[in-house]
Amino acid sequence: MSNYTAPVRDMLFVMNELAGLDAVGTLPGYEEARADLAEAILEEAGRFAGEVIAPLNVIGDREGSRLIDGKVVPPTGFADAYRQFVDGGWGAVASEIDHGGQGLPQLLAKPVTEMWNSANLSFALCPMLTQGALEALEHHGSDELKAVYLSKLATGEWTGTMNLTEPQAGSDLAAVRTKAVPEGDHYRISGNKIFITWGEHDMTDNIVHLVLARLPDAPEGVKGISLFVVPKYLVNADGSLGLRNDVQCVSLEHKMGIHGSPTAVLAFGEKDGAIGYLVGEPNRGLEYMFTMMNHARLGVGLEGVAISERAYQQARDYARDRVQGKAIGQRAVGAIIKHPDVRRMLMLMKSQTEAMRALAYVTAAYMDQAARHPDPVQRAYYQARVDLLTPVVKGWSTETAQEVTSLGVQVHGGMGFIEETGAAQHMRDARIITIYEGTTGIQANDLLGRKTVREEGKTLRALIEEIRADVARVAELEGEAFRQIAVGLEEALRVLEATASHLIATAANDMPLAFSGAVPYLMQLGIVCGGWQMARAACIAKARLDAGDDVAFHQAKIVSAQFYATHVLPRAQAHAHAALHGGQATLALDESAF
Ligand SMILES: Cc1cc2nc3c(=O)[nH]c(=O)nc-3n(C[C@H](O)[C@H](O)[C@H](O)COP(=O)(O)OP(=O)(O)OC[C@H]3O[C@@H](n4cnc5c(N)ncnc54)[C@H](O)[C@@H]3O)c2cc1C
Repeated sequence: MSNYTAPVRDMLFVMNELAGLDAVGTLPGYEEARADLAEAILEEAGRFAGEVIAPLNVIGDREGSRLIDGKVVPPTGFADAYRQFVDGGWGAVASEIDHGGQGLPQLLAKPVTEMWNSANLSFALCPMLTQGALEALEHHGSDELKAVYLSKLATGEWTGTMNLTEPQAGSDLAAVRTKAVPEGDHYRISGNKIFITWGEHDMTDNIVHLVLARLPDAPEGVKGISLFVVPKYLVNADGSLGLRNDVQCVSLEHKMGIHGSPTAVLAFGEKDGAIGYLVGEPNRGLEYMFTMMNHARLGVGLEGVAISERAYQQARDYARDRVQGKAIGQRAVGAIIKHPDVRRMLMLMKSQTEAMRALAYVTAAYMDQAARHPDPVQRAYYQARVDLLTPVVKGWSTETAQEVTSLGVQVHGGMGFIEETGAAQHMRDARIITIYEGTTGIQANDLLGRKTVREEGKTLRALIEEIRADVARVAELEGEAFRQIAVGLEEALRVLEATASHLIATAANDMPLAFSGAVPYLMQLGIVCGGWQMARAACIAKARLDAGDDVAFHQAKIVSAQFYATHVLPRAQAHAHAALHGGQATLALDESAF
């Protein structure tokens, strides 16, 4: 069974060398975010993730969360680990200090989040959803709501949930039907929500549900949805817990993966109506959810990085131990890691994981710049980058995690298919991440529609120019690795530009045709941006190598970038081909012909 060791060396490399921790540390309020603090936090978080949370991953998978007499009982050890998590102050590292958080930049918080997710995705979902509820209240809640709920959520003493989905309202939240009827200073909420992650459990005294619902006079569609806080237990004026609110867990879903995390069907208002409190203004609920979406989507993208890292570590360790045959060119029987094809699979896992991590952390740093840069022009510039790259990090990383976790099974051979080994769990757990928090199709529509067509590719073109300047730097370096990286990336950029122009032009007169290329375009952009980060990493690694610094690590970075350029980057061309030429065949068949 696999262990997890946090990849602190690579995380620090990405944070310091690629994402610009130095620059983030100059932003107002982030002055303490220095390299030494980052290293200390990552070491400590890595220990906690590896020693406390990771060993529960397989227990969570086997036991699952269970509904017993109306109560949800998490797997053995989860409640104790959660208590330690809260006591250790890991609840909300990026939340405002005023609310009991540690006020760290996203660039420092996201690697820590990656560790929780690698260690145990089911467990990590609980603080992730809590963070989402916290952010919604931080940005949009009244002072009264903040006073009651913020510090409890920031410390993790209470957990939070996001209640969006209903049976008829999944990707299309305009179809939400849950009702909210005004009554004095509060509302009575009634309706059913499905698929609510950590919607019920006994790990904390209270659960704070954030619920999308409609007021009686609300307009139809997305413009008529409001956001409410509905606590499991009502909170008395003195802060103590009062009556149980009218919200019940009706059942738990039986799932393909993430068994440790309870996915609840919640019934609001089966009796008198659950008491809820309006967040912000009426009918602006969906807009409020959208302000948090970049964080949540980046968070799920990181789940892709995290589970890929875990699957890679497990496959690598197995490949070092498992002895099978003589590898081509070897004289003796040896470990399977000697076979060229096993190495190819491991390199596919390793290089893509590194590329995804780099793009996710760079985007986290853009978020910090967008939030805190003193110059409003710079803030707007970084926000545009965040807006463009968030659906890419979410969609591309989660799709790539499917390949990486599947390769993890393949490296194990038959044992990969056997549950005891643990490789299959990563693949099953990973399957949800392309679906929740907006499916890949939804991310791609966002990328193509709002982030590309609507602004006629402005942010994308600026990004391509920046990548070109970095490619020029790589092209100046001597050696076959750098030549392959530079040539591959230059060609990929040319094709990316052509794809974007074609889709923008097509969208002007044939929207379905353009949007049939949305996912290929998203994957193309993800692969190119990953290649960009790998190229930057190779450039920096070369300079460090020339200075004789940490030779093995920096040599491996260059090899990873070269492998990515030769094995992964060419896939961008295939996606481009689908986006440029594949629309007609996508749309041609009559529905009855499927
Ligand atoms: C384990 C789990 C945990 C979850 N946790 C939560 C939670 O905590 N809170 C919560 O509110 N929800 C949660 N969800 C719900 C999740 O967010 C939805 O399942 C997801 O948004 C997709 O909605 P759907 O299942 O209704 O699929 P549908 O919307 O029916 O989609 C089906 C297919 O159609 C495609 N599709 C739909 N619309 C479009 C479109 N406009 N363009 C292109 N393709 C489209 C989709 O990409 C997908 O392939 C969870 C779900 C699961 C399974």
